Amino acid sequence: MRAALFLGPEKIEVRDIETPHVKKPYEILVKIEACAVCGTDIRIFHYGDSRVKPPAILGHEIAGEVIEVGNAVTRFKVGDRVAIGADVPCGSCDMCIRGLSNICFNHYAIGFQFPGGFAEYILLNEMTVKYGPVHHIPENVNSRLATLAEPLACCLNGLELTGLSVGDTVAVFGLGPMGCLLIELARYMGAGKIIAIQRSYKRLMMAKQLGVPADLFICSEQEDPIKRILEETEGKGAQIIIIACSSKEAQEQAVNIVARRGRIN
Ligand SMILES: [Zn+2]
Ligand SMILES: [Zn+2]
Repeated sequence: MRAALFLGPEKIEVRDIETPHVKKPYEILVKIEACAVCGTDIRIFHYGDSRVKPPAILGHEIAGEVIEVGNAVTRFKVGDRVAIGADVPCGSCDMCIRGLSNICFNHYAIGFQFPGGFAEYILLNEMTVKYGPVHHIPENVNSRLATLAEPLACCLNGLELTGLSVGDTVAVFGLGPMGCLLIELARYMGAGKIIAIQRSYKRLMMAKQLGVPADLFICSEQEDPIKRILEETEGKGAQIIIIACSSKEAQEQAVNIVARRGRIN
């Protein structure tokens, strides 16, 4: 099969490598239909990662079709369409046993220690099939869209941790893919006013054109977000603030616009 191999920082090559096949009872083989590029993939491409040992296949936002299953697998069958995410809990450490498998001590992940999705096929091992982020894709969701299951799950986790209540004012800094998904989710979860803050006007307009359902868009390059958000909230600030960008300035601004008993994540 063809695969994009990460050979070290700034070096990825498409090569022909041996196509994997199911050999053990709990494995499944998936033919990859789409794999999105995560910000993490870009970071690994530039700087490497202690969990990625080249040559390695990156990519962990995957959608595809199951084409082989081991004889002990019951949850999946040939022909199933599945969305696959990154983190694979070990299923046996303290965190996993407490149901907090997203902070598993062993911290395995697809596209890190396990081969990822920038290839034609992916073989999922026993740990991944038993405990990993592998889910059936509903019929009405196409594969390109299904690759967003993993980032969407991250956003859901982030919002759940804020304890968002119906009617809360939510401010989201950053309108990259994650910021846009967070706003969509906050809307579904019953947020009141949603305020989107984005420095680059071009990106702000992109999000607007995509139909991101914020009530107010603030371009922080053009106006002071603190002043505007306090005005918009009668000086009370926002109950929930999410920083969906790596800006130190946004972190500092968040502290100035958070409501009493508000949460910043
Ligand atoms: Zn990702
Ligand atoms: Zn674990």
